Amino acid sequence: MAIERVGIVGAGQMGNGIAHVFAVAGYDVLMTDISADALAAALAQIDRNLERQVTREIITAETKSEAMRRISSTQTLTDLGRTDLIIEAATERETIKAAIFEDLVPHLKPDTILTSNTSSISITRLASRTDRPEKFMGFHFMNPVPIMQLVELIRGIATDEPTFRACEEVVGKLGKTSTASEDFPGFIVNRILMPMINEAIYTLYEGVGSVQSIDTSLKLGANHPMGPLELADFIGLDTCLAIMNVLHDGLADTKYRPCPLLTKYVEAGWLGRKTKRGFYDYRGDEPVPTR
Ligand code: NAD
Repeated sequence: MAIERVGIVGAGQMGNGIAHVFAVAGYDVLMTDISADALAAALAQIDRNLERQVTREIITAETKSEAMRRISSTQTLTDLGRTDLIIEAATERETIKAAIFEDLVPHLKPDTILTSNTSSISITRLASRTDRPEKFMGFHFMNPVPIMQLVELIRGIATDEPTFRACEEVVGKLGKTSTASEDFPGFIVNRILMPMINEAIYTLYEGVGSVQSIDTSLKLGANHPMGPLELADFIGLDTCLAIMNVLHDGLADTKYRPCPLLTKYVEAGWLGRKTKRGFYDYRGDEPVPTR
């Protein structure tokens, strides 16, 4: 089945980025959110991000205006029933996502592929609540979507091959690269990245190195573009903790135990860049290590 129309549920930071890249790639995009303000903010954000790409000569002004024309929005979830591929990018709470799929199912075309951008919820479990587990899979974009090259494609236990291939082809048309992951906690990127960040926090907690020496060591010694603590602040320490808990609970192995120092930062409300304090203090001109 040809995929031409794409429905996006949730117009937050991921949803607006996903709408952006699909529209630039020539797909018609219908975006929905329960909040009218979120939809308006998403359209304004997409416009600004496309404009920045025009300024940097990544796209032309014509591509920008065509992309904006291809995006429409609705507050009625069931309007998405006429699309060919749905990417759910609503708030990371299983009850919310399950309710969205339940409401959508009676309105879908028989061939519509359902996907979720979830970072941590079981694809197999979400799929089991729909009428089409074989046409259900994970479509996991990285943040910020217009910049990051990777999309992790996650097979639920029932996902069939034509569905997987169709999504793989879509990722290619977006000009991005896909990797295939089975449906286990953290998929591939977070399964590897988060324990590394958590270990960096243990290294700080145990006094092996300072914030500065840990970040400099990984940047210059392992050629990472950002140090692990700087990256944790960028992702959000609450998100890092939530992902470690998913790995710890889902894989039942003590090697995924979240570092107590990470928990303490989250308890303090020091969540990284978004609260202006985490492993660095961002309130001045230059970030200053907090330990
Ligand atoms: P966000 O909070 O920025 O946006 C979520 C949006 O969903 C909000 O606008 C909210 O109004 C909307 N929403 C809530 N309930 C809804 C409903 N019933 N119907 C329609 N819309 C609804 O969140 P985000 O960071 O964009 O994350 C969205 C999803 O993407 C999550 O599943 C998250 O795990 C995943 N994800 C996030 C990141 C990241 O770095 N932020 C990276 C990869 C994947």
